[in-house]
Amino acid sequence: MELSKSLSELKQTFKTGKTKDVEWRKSQLKALIKLLDDNENQIFQALERDLGKHPVEAFRDEIGILKKSAKFSLSCIDKWISPTKKQVPLLFYPSKGAVQPEPLGLVLIFSSWNFPFTLSLDPLIGAVSAGNTVVLKPSELAAECSAFLAKTIPLYLDSKAIKVIEGGVVVAEKLLQQKWDKIFFTGNARVARSVMCAASKHLTPVTMELGGKCPTIFDSLSDGDMKVAVKRIASGKWGPCSGQACVGIDYILVEHKYASNLIDLLKKTIKRFYGEDKGNFKNLCKIVNKHHFNRLRNLLEDPAVAASIVYGGSLDEENLFIEPTILLDPPVDAAIMEEEIFGPFLPIITLDDIHESIEFINSREKPLTIYAFTKDESLKKQILAETSSGSVTFNDTFVLNACDNLPFGGVGESGFGRYHGKYSFDTFSHEKAVLERTFYFELEGRHPPWNDFKMQF
Ligand code: NAD
Repeated sequence: MELSKSLSELKQTFKTGKTKDVEWRKSQLKALIKLLDDNENQIFQALERDLGKHPVEAFRDEIGILKKSAKFSLSCIDKWISPTKKQVPLLFYPSKGAVQPEPLGLVLIFSSWNFPFTLSLDPLIGAVSAGNTVVLKPSELAAECSAFLAKTIPLYLDSKAIKVIEGGVVVAEKLLQQKWDKIFFTGNARVARSVMCAASKHLTPVTMELGGKCPTIFDSLSDGDMKVAVKRIASGKWGPCSGQACVGIDYILVEHKYASNLIDLLKKTIKRFYGEDKGNFKNLCKIVNKHHFNRLRNLLEDPAVAASIVYGGSLDEENLFIEPTILLDPPVDAAIMEEEIFGPFLPIITLDDIHESIEFINSREKPLTIYAFTKDESLKKQILAETSSGSVTFNDTFVLNACDNLPFGGVGESGFGRYHGKYSFDTFSHEKAVLERTFYFELEGRHPPWNDFKMQF
């Protein structure tokens, strides 16, 4: 269907009020759960073709997380859509105050390729729960997943209210020329700037889910705690999409004296988790395409960076695999330490004192998340008080994303706005203030004519 026809159908649907009906919203969430249940194998296949994602990882990071999210919304939606009573000042007596959420209208969702289902459907859950009509544009880089969404969503969800439009930059630009009531964008900060320019033309509100370099602070730990920490780091770095994750660990900050122990443990853990057969990393995703493979290869080509490799470093261009790779103290002004890595390289930067990590982080853009492995309460307080990031996780890696009660989103260069759970509902709603007064009592002093008596107040 032509773009203008699709959009007028969606606008017309919104006008009918159908999507505001809570039963409609619930029916869509249930249909989405059914879609995920009925098509588990097809989803696994699409993820395997686009990214080489293992079914266990695919279930954990995509199907499982989405079902949890849709079920959570289903269980809360009656509460979320109800007006919240608010106290009003005595001066307004007698009156009632409330906040009433209302849907924004027609919303546009742009998603990324690394979690092609989660990053498309999790915002969609929020948009539908809030009663909007939706256009979803998945990333063209995960082509099988995008095609699956375009083919399957109309079979389960209401196609008069929810449409998938596939395409790359040309389609994205066409979509951005339209007037939307909200744009929810997941991607990189450069593209986000053009999305914001287009949105400003219509004063369209935007949510920007971006990326950046997520640091991990690694403090001194007991041997037992260190083993657990290293397992969490290894699965947090290479587990989600081979490091092609906005919340993936970008680099580690550690005191010199603990670095060699940390590296030894990381090497053992990598071998145990991912094996050593460089031609057959079945528990690791591949790099999404040649362009990103070459981008990553270029990061390693700097001789000073190559010289800092202490583990891994092999690249298999034919199969687009890159081995988990550890680098010790690459130059901090090299591209690998200035750009978001978004791949399986893990630089370890050594410091004299772990407290220097605060200054190291603060001298760079605000990250999407900071991870810190420490039992030192004063260091935890310092991290919280003296750094700024979308989120902070102590003693684990990317699990915060699965907490429906915590907001997910960035700050500064890592984005703005938040979602997950109720935050998704709020992101796609307008909170309308409602004040209801009675006619019982009239304070004459509020009305003209102004005179000396009224001046006394
Ligand atoms: P991208 O910005 O290239 O693409 C994102 C979306 O924008 C896609 O749908 C794409 O088709 C569209 N797009 C691309 N070029 C465009 C243009 N010129 N105009 C309009 N739209 C355009 O990003 P990506 O490569 O898909 O993702 C990588 C980036 O996204 C990384 O920086 C990563 O950290 C970030 N990311 C963030 C999150 C998060 O939840 N915060 C999740 C995944 C990825």
